[in-house]
Amino acid sequence: MPALHMVILGRQGSGKGTQSERLTAAFGCIHLSTGDVLRAAVAAGTELGRQAKAVMDSGGLVGDDIMNGIVRDRLSRDDIAAGGVLLDGFPRTSDQADALEAILDELGHSLDVAVNIDVPIDVVTARMVDRGRSDDTLEAIQRRLELYEEQTAPLLDWFDARGLLATVDGVGTPDEVFERIVSAVERTRPQPA
Ligand code: AMP
Repeated sequence: MPALHMVILGRQGSGKGTQSERLTAAFGCIHLSTGDVLRAAVAAGTELGRQAKAVMDSGGLVGDDIMNGIVRDRLSRDDIAAGGVLLDGFPRTSDQADALEAILDELGHSLDVAVNIDVPIDVVTARMVDRGRSDDTLEAIQRRLELYEEQTAPLLDWFDARGLLATVDGVGTPDEVFERIVSAVERTRPQPA
């Protein structure tokens, strides 16, 4: 099977992180979480981290130029060229989706599938309150959910129009959801000739 280039989408708290780990193990691709990249930059006290911290704490979105630059840099590395990638937390806006398409195209790749883990808003809110991460105040959680509906949910149409969208029911045990995702990926990714 050729290297897989996939996106995982879902509201914060939909189980994207857990499922991303399982998927990268199953498909042998690199997990690129833009939230993890930003949190590492904050922890390391870099210029990027300094700029990103206030935005992240308020539940806002870091600028498209910064995010597109981070993704371009990572996707250009050899490990991803060889093994493929699972993008988690990117794209979040239609500008980022256009940038992703252009970056992959420049590198001679294309997107194979966008998995959408569907979990209702009340369920994810309860999960995130339980999770208790430092940037998870109720206000920030609500702001992120609003931004998701406003900016990220419309991306589902962007992927769907390209025949790349695979929506799975994200309510269930991690094993159940994982099985649904794997079948959806196999159904949606381009079949080898
Ligand atoms: P996540 O771990 O994906 O929930 O990301 C945590 C925070 O990092 C988000 O609430 C945003 O502030 C920021 N972030 C992560 N990815 C992006 C992105 N693609 N565009 C803008 N901001 C992002």
